[in-house]
Amino acid sequence: PGKRVLIVYAHQEPKSFNGSLLKIAVEELTKQGCSVTVSDLYAMQFEPRATRNDIVAFPMLNNLNCLSLSAQERCSRSCIIRRLIKKLIYDQTAFLKVHSFFPLFWFSMPAILKGWMDRVLVQGFAYDLSKSYDGGLLQDKLSLFSFTTGATKEMYSNGGVSGDVRYVLWPMQHGIMHFCGVKVLEPHICYAPENVSEEKRKEMLTAWTQRLKTLWKEEPIKCSPEWYFK
Ligand code: FAD
Ligand code: ZN
Repeated sequence: PGKRVLIVYAHQEPKSFNGSLLKIAVEELTKQGCSVTVSDLYAMQFEPRATRNDIVAFPMLNNLNCLSLSAQERCSRSCIIRRLIKKLIYDQTAFLKVHSFFPLFWFSMPAILKGWMDRVLVQGFAYDLSKSYDGGLLQDKLSLFSFTTGATKEMYSNGGVSGDVRYVLWPMQHGIMHFCGVKVLEPHICYAPENVSEEKRKEMLTAWTQRLKTLWKEEPIKCSPEWYFK
């Protein structure tokens, strides 16, 4: 209870399977007393491009600039960045948890969500030159990736045609979240919701509801290369 949750949601259609997963999460977490904020990226028309405007607004994005700064300058700039980021993510910098909900696009997240990562998790806010991985700036936070696929679980298994799904998770969980110091819970993957029976879809949604009930008791994964490529 009292936990702050930020859900970053990237599906265009509220009636989609992802939309149903989102609805369940908002209802269940709210029922548990969490304060839940949803960033519905398509509905917000979120600008995914890190353009020159960002470099002007967030000088830390520009590594060359950053290297030439004194520690003091760097600190005051990072304060400015923090304020801007706070605005960008609706004053939810103190979020305890980031859920990302999306359909898998080309073994990765949709461009709009990748753009959120590019623009929100900037240097000076999420990580810094020597502050990354377990030393990242977003410690004490948890993340969970929930996504759907077109392909089956067999295709995304070890020996399957698409390879182990953990290879897909490596850049998102380790390269982004862990890099920023965020701990990672087991992902939630619903395979091929378009191609299963209505009954199976209901089962998947029930399993998600069940998982959410004990989510806060879960231990984060041991996010190291071995988890992905053992
Ligand atoms: P939907 O099509 O919205 O939902 C599936 C079904 O569930 C629908 O019939 C819907 O009506 C129904 N439904 C919704 N809510 C409920 C409910 N409450 N109860 C019962 N039924 C419900 N897939 C891969 O595996 N790998 C890839 O690399 C990949 N790349 C892609 C790239 C692009 C550009 C695109 C467009 C797709 C790609 N896909 C890929 C496929 C994509 O991941 C799937 O189409 C997507 O994950 C399906 O999720 P959805 O939420 O859109 O499903
Ligand atoms: Zn890791």
